[in-house]
Amino acid sequence: MIEQTLVLIKPDGVRRGLIGEVIRRIEAKGLRIVAMKMLQFDETLTRRHYGQYAKEDFYPALSRFIQSGPSVAMVVEGLEAIGIVRLMMGPTRALDAAPGTIRGDLALGTRENIVHGSDSPAAARREIACFFRKKEIFRNANA
Ligand code: UDP
Ligand code: MG
Repeated sequence: MIEQTLVLIKPDGVRRGLIGEVIRRIEAKGLRIVAMKMLQFDETLTRRHYGQYAKEDFYPALSRFIQSGPSVAMVVEGLEAIGIVRLMMGPTRALDAAPGTIRGDLALGTRENIVHGSDSPAAARREIACFFRKKEIFRNANA
């Protein structure tokens, strides 16, 4: 099924000059970028995006990190895009992320791990709506 998913290049990825590397991998896979912007998280957006973790020990540090500089937000579209992007990212924990994945190749930390990708269709819908209006998304007819 053709899906849309929200992908973020987090502040560590932007700082380290990895915007192009992440986009290159997404495009090389055959997925399409149908919306994109650069923005900096504030407290409100952090709550909307990561609110499910508000009670976790790691939340304060995650909140500081995600607000620490600009991120790039994208809507990525393609066949099974949600699961494919999650596979390309690799698992959250640095020690679990195998070489070949974005995190396995490019990240050492569990918090500073370069990318975000929605983990389900419901999450994708909710997250895309946090960052983009309908008219900012360019649906690709032949994706
Ligand atoms: N995170 C963290 N410490 C943890 C777990 C998660 O700092 O122990 C951060 C990390 O940046 C992660 C984000 O919180 O990417 C969201 O966590 P989630 O479990 O949703 O991981 P993801 O879906 O990004 O793999
Ligand atoms: Mg997640």
